[in-house]
Amino acid sequence: MHKKIDIHSFLLTVGEFVKDKDVPVVDLIAVQTRDPFKVLVATILSARTKDETTAAAVNRLFKKASSLEQLSQLTTDEIEKLIHPVGFFRNKAVYLNKLPTALETFEGKVPDTIHELVTLPGVGRKTANLVRSVAFGKPAICVDTHVHRIMNIWGYVQTGTPLATEMALRDILPEKYWLTVNSILVAFGQSLCKPIGPQCDICPLSPQCPQIGVTPRIIKTKKKSIPNRPTTFLASWNINGLRAVEKKGFIDIVRELDFDILALQETKAQPDQLSDNLKNIDGYYSFFHSAEKKGYSGVAVYSRKEPVNVFYGLGNEEYDREGRVLTLEFADYFLINIYFPNSGEGLKRLDYKLAFNKELLRFAEKLRSRKCVVLCGDFNVAHKPIDLKNPDKNTKNAGFTPEERQWMDRFLEAGYLDTFRMFNNEPEQYSWWSYRFNARARNIGWRIDYFCVDSAGKDRIQDARILNEVMGSDHCPVLLEFEA
Ligand code: SF4
Repeated sequence: MHKKIDIHSFLLTVGEFVKDKDVPVVDLIAVQTRDPFKVLVATILSARTKDETTAAAVNRLFKKASSLEQLSQLTTDEIEKLIHPVGFFRNKAVYLNKLPTALETFEGKVPDTIHELVTLPGVGRKTANLVRSVAFGKPAICVDTHVHRIMNIWGYVQTGTPLATEMALRDILPEKYWLTVNSILVAFGQSLCKPIGPQCDICPLSPQCPQIGVTPRIIKTKKKSIPNRPTTFLASWNINGLRAVEKKGFIDIVRELDFDILALQETKAQPDQLSDNLKNIDGYYSFFHSAEKKGYSGVAVYSRKEPVNVFYGLGNEEYDREGRVLTLEFADYFLINIYFPNSGEGLKRLDYKLAFNKELLRFAEKLRSRKCVVLCGDFNVAHKPIDLKNPDKNTKNAGFTPEERQWMDRFLEAGYLDTFRMFNNEPEQYSWWSYRFNARARNIGWRIDYFCVDSAGKDRIQDARILNEVMGSDHCPVLLEFEA
């Protein structure tokens, strides 16, 4: 049982800490205009979009339409052009186009109750709370992922969803904090108490914070590095179906974890089967390489930085029709994202897998002669007994056969580093758990997802971790911090 925190002193401390940070754009518009229409529009645009992108889009839109009447004169296409590139701009343009008609029910005025606000297009509970508190100064608690996460870290609530947190806070949070708690915890969650590697070492709350479920960042001695080369956060995740994981909040997870590059395996979809939301995540370039067979295999990469080149497959029809390899070339390294074949039941595909592995290594070696290579993905093999819960029972099963493990030996001997094991030699560190037998909760798993870096890039590797707290698939993401 954790000691109960003093919420007054926690929020006071956090308020002091964030007072010089950027004010969220919606609050800013409220301060500048106190116009509920503008706050509503800005709030709709701000969902899943960075503040600076929202601010620019809002300015463009308000120059053309600063009132409901002017908005009603614009077509959806015109609105789309004005608000691009906010996240989900196409959907939001449709919402804004429908807004004047929807507000006729309220005599052309923005209502101030949650149950009325949520009847408007594009307005969910979070937006409604934000509009009610920011535009009207009325009691409402807007709970986004940061508020939900941090309140649980503090043990102030013990809840599973943002909605449950909102309901719990209504009962226990003193009303004087309802208006401000969202802005300060968003700023705090973005700057210090981050979802990955919160900076507990410099946090003013550290002595009192229960840090429930938290893995604080690790401060390491700086390695020899090229001056001014920033750290790139790369993640690799077998999401077991991109459309399936979208329904489990994938886009919120991407925005919250804020990776520079996210490489996905087992997308199980062709681009024309994906929603616009998945294809246009704000701030990312996206690339997809799908299997010919629908609903099977497939890889994708989201990258904040535009690559110099993109290569689809290995250049071998036999493997490329399964959509297993996607390579992004950047100025000083290649990223190869791979979904290795599974040897299958009865090891029916073991030969295919070994032939693929050979071809893959040949491909990596070719790129390596030009610049550093980073390989990531679901390798579908646990290398050593330490990498799975029950090694003795699995020597004849796909993913732990001597042949697959020997290939992994040869691959590492060729000069590639298993980055996770450079930092962590503990047992029971897994990235995949069966959906059966409650395996994840019991940590009966396998480590089959890897980031491997060719030895020329050794000094650029800063950290490698398994993010086993991230849910949504039977695998969890693995992370590499790399100077690039
Ligand atoms: S001590 Fe760590 S977990 Fe607690 S609030 Fe500060 S950064 Fe967050």
